[in-house]
Amino acid sequence: MVRPVNLYPVFADLHGRKVLVIGAGTVAERKIGMLLRAGALVDVVATRLNPALLALKQSGQLQHRALQFTPQQLDSAWLVVAATDDVALNRRVAEAAALRQKWVNVVDDVALSSFQVPAVIDRSPLVIAVSSGGSAPMLARLVRERLERALAPSLGTLAGLLDRWRGRIRSALPDLAQRRGYYDRLLHGAVPALVDAGQLDEAEREVTRTLATPTAPTRGRVLLVGAGPGAAGLLTLDALRALQQADVILHDRLVSAEVLDLARRDAQRIEVGKSGRGPSTGQDEIHRLLIEHARAGQVVVRLKGGDPFVFGRGGEELEALRAAGIDYAVIPGITAAVACAAYAGIPLTHRDHAQSVRLVTAHCARSADSLDWQALAQERQTLAVYMGGAQFDVLRDKLIAHGRAASTPVALVENGSRSNQRVIVGSLDQLPELARSHQVQSPVLLYVGEVAALATQLGWFGAGVESGIPVVLAQAA
Ligand code: SAH
Repeated sequence: MVRPVNLYPVFADLHGRKVLVIGAGTVAERKIGMLLRAGALVDVVATRLNPALLALKQSGQLQHRALQFTPQQLDSAWLVVAATDDVALNRRVAEAAALRQKWVNVVDDVALSSFQVPAVIDRSPLVIAVSSGGSAPMLARLVRERLERALAPSLGTLAGLLDRWRGRIRSALPDLAQRRGYYDRLLHGAVPALVDAGQLDEAEREVTRTLATPTAPTRGRVLLVGAGPGAAGLLTLDALRALQQADVILHDRLVSAEVLDLARRDAQRIEVGKSGRGPSTGQDEIHRLLIEHARAGQVVVRLKGGDPFVFGRGGEELEALRAAGIDYAVIPGITAAVACAAYAGIPLTHRDHAQSVRLVTAHCARSADSLDWQALAQERQTLAVYMGGAQFDVLRDKLIAHGRAASTPVALVENGSRSNQRVIVGSLDQLPELARSHQVQSPVLLYVGEVAALATQLGWFGAGVESGIPVVLAQAA
């Protein structure tokens, strides 16, 4: 039984200080790695070193002086770590350490330890340590994982920048309350985003600027974010962080509720739908909204289904932002062609069948007319057709007329990656009929090519029919 204890958190400065480690196996190796990173002088007691530790010894990074543990070895150490698999030995080390008032950690033995090593989120120089006092290590681990996801990797760089500016900020704003207010605005403003975007020089300039006018409104920005195909698990960590810091979210109709649910609760949401049906917001109006909110100092997330640069008009939006002098960043998403293929079991470039994949759109007769049918009808390639719904008959006729075999497999993936996903497989000559008889709805992605047939064998996701695979085979007409 582990007694629940209230621990006193400490961050120890081990630079140049000796730490005695008893044991030299895998567990000891992990602990020693952390100790060395913290600058400790590590002295190992063990009958033999594992190969990794031996290499460290040979390169002079650790000392290995004794084969057996004796209590006197503790005298020159600041901290002691017992990491052997010999329970009796670990106990002797712990008891000897207690007698000499040395802090000791016995790996995986809270009762014998006088200090514990927390789970760490490392954004050095910013470090977060998590502990449950030994009462619920799994919970501590879960918290660590959550924080790991929530905190941008660039936080360490930001901490370094703040360190460089601390003195100057203190002398510019000697009043504590004023300084707090300034830091608050600084950290919610453009500087962390600029650091995140790898623009350190611009971030430094922004600090200079804000310090000259400490009460001026912060600079807004737009994050053009890919929301992926619908399943929330397919968001990137950066997309999730963007959603959680958004003041305003302008999203397409294609973005799933599951994804929107992850956004900051008090973010303002504006749907700027463009599903092809119903009222939609014109592109100019979208640009106007983006610029207006960013100019008001807000963090604006422009959230698009899939990837913002794949049939998403993300490029046009960036052009408008650049012209207006608004800061922006782009966070990619998993595009429908990639996601639907994965979720339907269609390996896009299976080497037995295809050497290339083409992403094509055919959303109206005009766009269908302007396609290079000769190239699209080539063998040994996979076509992934976006927004093809209304043009299936044209697609079939043109591809066959330009030489693609009538028997070429096709797959329709409706609501790919979502709980209501459907996959319908057939042949090119049946395409319009397949879509009609199965009442295929938007959003749907069409694959043309040999790999489409593999969905019947490799499909794995979705409510299964008899086989348990979400495939509805084409009925003969
Ligand atoms: N930027 C998006 C594409 C926008 S165009 C992306 O990268 O995915 C909209 C088209 O994408 C839809 O008409 C449909 O063909 C396809 N699409 C998007 N999400 C889909 C999904 N979950 N399942 C099937 N098709 C999808």
